[in-house]
Amino acid sequence: MSPMDRVYFDHAATTPVREEVLEAMQPYFSEKYGNASSLHSFGQEAREALETSRATVAKLIGANPEEVIFTGSGTESNNTILKGTAFHKKKGHIITSAIEHPCVLNVCKWLETRGFDVTYLPVNNEGIVSPGDFANAFRNDTIIASVMTANNEIGSIQPIEELQKIASEKGVPFHTDAVQGFGKIPLARTDALTVSAHKLYGPKGVGVLCTKGIDFDPLLHGGGHETGRRSGTENVAGAVGFARAAELAFAEMGKEAKRQTALRDQLIDGLLAIDRTHLNGPREKRLPNNVNVWFEFIEGEALVLMLDGEGIAASTGSACSQKELKASHALLALGLEAHQAHGSLRMTIGRPTTEKEVDYALEKIPPVVQRLRKMSPFKKEYAGFGGEK
Ligand code: PLP
Repeated sequence: MSPMDRVYFDHAATTPVREEVLEAMQPYFSEKYGNASSLHSFGQEAREALETSRATVAKLIGANPEEVIFTGSGTESNNTILKGTAFHKKKGHIITSAIEHPCVLNVCKWLETRGFDVTYLPVNNEGIVSPGDFANAFRNDTIIASVMTANNEIGSIQPIEELQKIASEKGVPFHTDAVQGFGKIPLARTDALTVSAHKLYGPKGVGVLCTKGIDFDPLLHGGGHETGRRSGTENVAGAVGFARAAELAFAEMGKEAKRQTALRDQLIDGLLAIDRTHLNGPREKRLPNNVNVWFEFIEGEALVLMLDGEGIAASTGSACSQKELKASHALLALGLEAHQAHGSLRMTIGRPTTEKEVDYALEKIPPVVQRLRKMSPFKKEYAGFGGEK
């Protein structure tokens, strides 16, 4: 095995729970285990922790605590706001972008089968939605618009403040899936926002939906928890973990963004030094932790498996839907052809990533790429371009 046992470059897929987060959550499993809806002191203790966590998250977002709903995931938050608004309005038109996460895109596709109209806005070749296209997409019956803050595959950052302003002028609620941006970059205030704890060193299975002034039907009916907007006994430990993780992420945001941007750029430059390699997504308006390139004459799955053999964890396409061997919809939306998208590699940096790990990756990846190219069915074409025979 290598001098580095394993290096993790997949922080967009998930992150390790921080020690401080684990510590904050720990008492709420077996010591302060009350049901936050119970009237006795056990319940009150849990309720207090839940409401303190809600207030912490609200403050970081710049919202009021009653606007924050704890959910079971980013997927649930996105489903709630989109389906919930659609169910409430019963019919109408939705605006979104072509590069959303599947938990937005597949909701929209499903809503189309229920009679709703959806506009999927294109992106430019850097993965960014045009505010002009966005403004032109509104119709008299538009019920909600949803554009992600930052893309999970290519890291492109959308002009959210501008999009919110346009939606407000049109009198339509605007939602953003901020799962990849929250805690990494400063966020504009929007009518609705989705976040997920496990992307920011919190626990898996905890999300937040923050909304103000949007009427939507709940997805989960039951005991009326979360003021009737999301029934189900509250995950107090999860909410406490979310709040602690968010607090720490915001406190360290500036410093971490700077540090990770430097590592990101080192990685991008190092990978682009490999011949016939191209950057996916923008150079500037990009998440501090995202690297995504495509290698000509390479098959991404094979590359990820070979890198895993070198102790390097990375991904191709979206890790969330890796069981599908379809070319990534986000890369296709940039204008890449299917075979180009299949040759892509996403590496996402995180808090634990060090310069030594980046150096290690840059030492290991070029020979693996060359080895794969020699085995590639396109090796003749590669040789024709002056590659190794
Ligand atoms: N939205 C984006 C942009 C994501 O990257 C993800 C997960 O990868 C989700 C939503 C889903 O979040 P969760 O894993 O909490 O369901």
